[in-house]
Amino acid sequence: MLSKSIQRIFRLLSEHFPNPQTELIFNDHYQLLIAVILSAQATDVSVNRVTTTLFKDAPTPTKMVQLGEKGIKNHIKSIGLSNTKAKNVLNTSRILIEKHDSKIPDTRDALETLPGVGNKTAGVVLNVAYGEATIPVDTHVFRVSNRLGLVKTKTPTETEKRLLKIVPQEFLPKAHHLLILHGRYVCKARKPLCMDCCIKQQCEYPEKTA
Ligand code: SF4
Repeated sequence: MLSKSIQRIFRLLSEHFPNPQTELIFNDHYQLLIAVILSAQATDVSVNRVTTTLFKDAPTPTKMVQLGEKGIKNHIKSIGLSNTKAKNVLNTSRILIEKHDSKIPDTRDALETLPGVGNKTAGVVLNVAYGEATIPVDTHVFRVSNRLGLVKTKTPTETEKRLLKIVPQEFLPKAHHLLILHGRYVCKARKPLCMDCCIKQQCEYPEKTA
């Protein structure tokens, strides 16, 4: 795809979503990290539902450790993988207290040593908390970038590498959220709303319906 078209895609998306940001609800970097850990294979809406009460009982790493694995599990049992996530949230909180003075690390290497934090979670935290120009690739980002023809990739890692090369500098910090919002509300997995799509002219998806 021509760089002129890529520029146009991100300009149009920015106009359509003027204030792109995560839909997860949190009060500080710690709660952001926990919400992102919980969001693996779960929707933001379902995570927000459980963190409303979880963060009331345990707003800090210390309180989370006091709540304990069973207590955490009780709050988050309605979302997928709750057993593993409860363990990860507890152990991550412990490590934050012991090694990071209860602060959230600002490097990918340090973040990825925390239980439940992989490449994508670290990328989201670095992007949202510290404004880093990362483009973590979730299911929406992967689908939308491939449908549009921005990339032709088979894995999230490959997709992120490619996007980091082609997305114009000025749109890099918000590209992740722009693609997610477009995927969530317009270029939906089953039935993309091509008629209402602001970038249908630029889209190279052979099955687009407009
Ligand atoms: S035209 Fe359709 S397939 Fe292409 S980006 Fe828009 S919604 Fe998605």
